[in-house]
Amino acid sequence: MTIVRDALMEGLSSPLCLTWELTWACNLSCRHCLSSSGKPDPLELDLQACRRLLDDFRDMGIFYLNIGGGEPMMHPSFFGIIEYADALGIGVKFSTNGTRLNREAAQRIASLHYCDVQVSLDGATAAVNDAIRGAGSYERALWALQNLADAGVQGSKISVVVTKGSIGQLDELRTLASRFGAQLRLTRLRPSGRAQDCYEELALDDAQQRYLYEYLLRYPEIQTADSFFHLNALGASLPGLNFCGAGRVVCLIDPVGDVYACPFTIHPDFRAGSVRTDRFATIWRSAELFRDLRAQTPAAGCQRCDAYSRCHGGCLATKFFTGRSLFGADPSCVRAVGNPVSVPVPRRLSDHTRLVRRGSAGSSAAVGQSSLSSRRFRGVDGSSWGDIVGDV
Ligand code: SF4
Ligand code: SF4
Repeated sequence: MTIVRDALMEGLSSPLCLTWELTWACNLSCRHCLSSSGKPDPLELDLQACRRLLDDFRDMGIFYLNIGGGEPMMHPSFFGIIEYADALGIGVKFSTNGTRLNREAAQRIASLHYCDVQVSLDGATAAVNDAIRGAGSYERALWALQNLADAGVQGSKISVVVTKGSIGQLDELRTLASRFGAQLRLTRLRPSGRAQDCYEELALDDAQQRYLYEYLLRYPEIQTADSFFHLNALGASLPGLNFCGAGRVVCLIDPVGDVYACPFTIHPDFRAGSVRTDRFATIWRSAELFRDLRAQTPAAGCQRCDAYSRCHGGCLATKFFTGRSLFGADPSCVRAVGNPVSVPVPRRLSDHTRLVRRGSAGSSAAVGQSSLSSRRFRGVDGSSWGDIVGDV
């Protein structure tokens, strides 16, 4: 087991979990959107460029993709892209707000060999969901789920970012999923994109985290995308990865072709390169940022914690966007003494996603490859990881 973990930490020749955001266009404006989506960028990859990228994925042996956005169904060539992936034998799991998933679209999805759909819903009731995702979004998501069920699409998911509003609705969410023959998928709120502005308000407190952990142990069929491994510190490990896979086994390609360590680290510090100028395989295997991430001991400042082997210091993105040292404990750590388990205060950055987009749209040279080495022993707030060690 340790050998497998070490191999994963050192990185594989292709990512295990590759997310590809097709567009920043979105017809909703969810409060916690990790990519601050809304309008498309004129430089978003077109069908031809997307096909070239898919050919590269096939050559690398990548066998499935997570497709997201924005709302990916708003990409003008959405079906052309996923049908091409399907023809290459690359499975697609795509996340959608469901607003465009009519009967015809559901039937087209049903005709593919390898396509799973995750419909985003952030509450079991319209009141809870729509407070985050906007008026009418609950009804529309249920409409999409019904269309998928009617078309016979297998393996659909209801995908929920768990918040203070929905943590008391987990039973209802399971019931709702079974109504559509779908599975429930719960993920963690991270303070990326617009979620920086509502993280404090929506993120789970300590008691809610403990409740969620017990719930996940009781219902292991609930999918989590390895979001909650920092809760392993409470006892038995949840299924899945127990360390941050950013740049090791996880990465993101954004709509203009920039490559980042993880979908939640869309920031110049975590940009590894661009598929406009380099092959994806070259970036994945050789980018300085990725080499740095793979060479590091995760959260070295946590190593004295007796839960380290189950948690490895938690989520890099959450630390980064809350201004913590990357080498210390997760801000929502359930163990750290003096490391508040209550919700941390997020860094009030300007819209970092747009900052990157401006660089990409104006000149790719404007955003260089990033290396962590310049701040290897420093957090983004300038604190050394030694400051955090004292808290563990
Ligand atoms: S101190 Fe670090 S390793 Fe221990 S539980 Fe907290 S985040 Fe995890
Ligand atoms: S930064 Fe957080 S969300 Fe991204 S791979 Fe690491 S643990 Fe997962």
